Amino acid sequence: MQDMNKRVSALGELLIKKNLIDDKTFSDYEKIVTEDWVPNNGARLIARAWVDPQFKEFLLADGKAAASSFGFGMPEHHGSLVVKENTEQIHNVICCTLCSCTAFTIIGMAPGWYKDLDYRSRLVREARTVLGEMGLVLSDQLKIRVWDTTADTRYMIMPLRPAYTEGWSEEDLIKIITKESLIGVARLEEPYTTYDSHNLMSRG
Ligand code: FE
Repeated sequence: MQDMNKRVSALGELLIKKNLIDDKTFSDYEKIVTEDWVPNNGARLIARAWVDPQFKEFLLADGKAAASSFGFGMPEHHGSLVVKENTEQIHNVICCTLCSCTAFTIIGMAPGWYKDLDYRSRLVREARTVLGEMGLVLSDQLKIRVWDTTADTRYMIMPLRPAYTEGWSEEDLIKIITKESLIGVARLEEPYTTYDSHNLMSRG
């Protein structure tokens, strides 16, 4: 990772030196990807949908407009934000078979593994196996639907609200919704068993 940071800094310095970007673009970009385009945005939309049926309907019908109502913008070429709802019977998961497209302003930048050829090529053929390898073992009864992102259509998964969160405040709900659950490589029903359970662990 340190090596990667060095390479990013070196590339940034070179672009600035060659006048391809200015100093500010580089520093602002870092701020944007670490503070503005964060999975907390998607988590806020999902938590609201969990507590407000009318908003849920809005989010499922027009994700981009619903995100906009929270002040979350999307680039113009992201034509739509399609939200797929997980149920007791269906599990949804996203990938980009061509490269690494996500609704990054809403769910954060694509994780490294999302860009891997392994994930992109195998998920569409053997989703159950790939998810199992990532720590999400799904029962054979649960149907899996894989959504392949395009330049124009971006996806976000709406995780099933865990039963143990009954009566929780919206603020507390936001904290358990991970980036992995918004991509669909984790479910939230059982605490401590998701692919990345840091958020749950830290609740104590
Ligand atoms: Fe892509």
